[in-house]
Amino acid sequence: MPRLITSILSLLLAVQLSSCRSQEEQHAEYFVFGTLVEVVVRDTNEQLAARAFGDLQQRFQAMHRDLHAWEPGALTRINQAFSEGRSVTVPPGIQTLILRSQELEVLTGGRFNAALGAMIELWGFHTSQYPVRGPVPGAPVIQLLLDASPSTADIVIEDGMVHSTNPAVQLDFGAIAKGFAVDLALDILAEYGIENALVNAGGDLKASGGSADWPWTIGIRRPGGGVIGGVEITGSEAVFTSGVDQRFLEHSGGRYPHILDPLTGMPVKGVASVTVIAGEALLADVAATALIVAGRDSWLEVAHALGLNEVLLIDDQGDIYLTAEMNDRLILSPGLKIELNIVD
Ligand code: AMP
Ligand code: MG
Repeated sequence: MPRLITSILSLLLAVQLSSCRSQEEQHAEYFVFGTLVEVVVRDTNEQLAARAFGDLQQRFQAMHRDLHAWEPGALTRINQAFSEGRSVTVPPGIQTLILRSQELEVLTGGRFNAALGAMIELWGFHTSQYPVRGPVPGAPVIQLLLDASPSTADIVIEDGMVHSTNPAVQLDFGAIAKGFAVDLALDILAEYGIENALVNAGGDLKASGGSADWPWTIGIRRPGGGVIGGVEITGSEAVFTSGVDQRFLEHSGGRYPHILDPLTGMPVKGVASVTVIAGEALLADVAATALIVAGRDSWLEVAHALGLNEVLLIDDQGDIYLTAEMNDRLILSPGLKIELNIVD
C-alpha cells in the first residue's frame, strides 16, 4: 500500500511513494514547528527505535522552545536584549544558527536575512493562523525598518555571550530552523546506530542510508495538485521546498506571501515554489527560501553561489525551470505531459 506523507506547509510536497518492504520500517510522528514531522527508520530493532524516538521527542521540543520567533523562549530573550543593546548568554544551537546565518546571508547576497524579524512581524507573519487578514503595512513604516538595515553581520558572539551593534536586528529562524532540526534528527539517530532513516517535516525532508535496490523514493508535487515525479535518495540527502501559496496575508483581493525580499521589505512576487536537493538540510532550507527571493532572473546564479546544482523552480504562471542535474534526478510520472525548461 503506498504510503502518503502529507504536507502541512509545503506547496510542493514530498511523498514517500511506496515501499514494498514497509513491514521492516518503524515510524514515529511529532507535531513541532507548526508541522507534522514523520520519522521512518529501517533495519532497526523495536527497542532501539523506541529509545531513539523518545530522545527525538525531547530534542524537537527543546528546539521548538529555543528557536521560536514569537513564543517566549531563548530566541525572544535574545531579541529583547538586542533591542536594548544588552549582551546575553547564547545556547550552543542558536550560536551555530547565527554563524551559519551570517555566512549564508553573504552567500545569498542578502536574500536570506535571519535578522529580518521586525519586518516579518510588521507583516503579521509571527502567527500560526493563516491566512493573515490585512491591512498591508504602510510604506513609511516599511522604509523606517529598511533604513535601519538589520543584518546578521551586526551580531557579535564572544565567550558564549551575544549582542547586536544594531538595535533593529531581530532574529527570525523561520527559513532555516526546520533544516537545522532535520539534520540534527538524523545525527541523533546515527548516534543510536540508526543509519537508514527518513525525517520528513511537512514535506521538507532528509534521508540517509537508502541503497540502490531499496532507495528512499520522494515524490515532488506541483502547486495546485498532481505529482511532477519522484526523486530517489540513496546516500544522505535533503529535499526542501519553499512555496508561496500556503502562508500569506490577504487584503482587498491581494495575496502577499510570507517570504519577504529584504531589499524592499515587500513579499516576493513571480515565483510559486522552489525545490532544492542538497546534502545538508539546513542549506536546502535556506536555499529554497533565498531562491524564491532571487526570482526568475537570479535563482541560478544564487544557487551556484551556494554550491547547489539540483534546483527546480516553478513560476507564478506554472512554468517549470530546472537545472540539468535536477532533470537527471527527476523520474517523471508516467504519462505526464509537462514542459520542462532545462537551464544552465
Ligand atoms: P520557508 O518556509 O522555509 O521559505 O521560510 C519562510 C519563513 O522564513 C517566513 O515565515 C519568515 O519567518 C522567514 N523569512 C521570510 N523571508 C525571509 C528572508 N528573506 N530571509 C530569511 N528569513 C525569511
Ligand atoms: Mg527555508
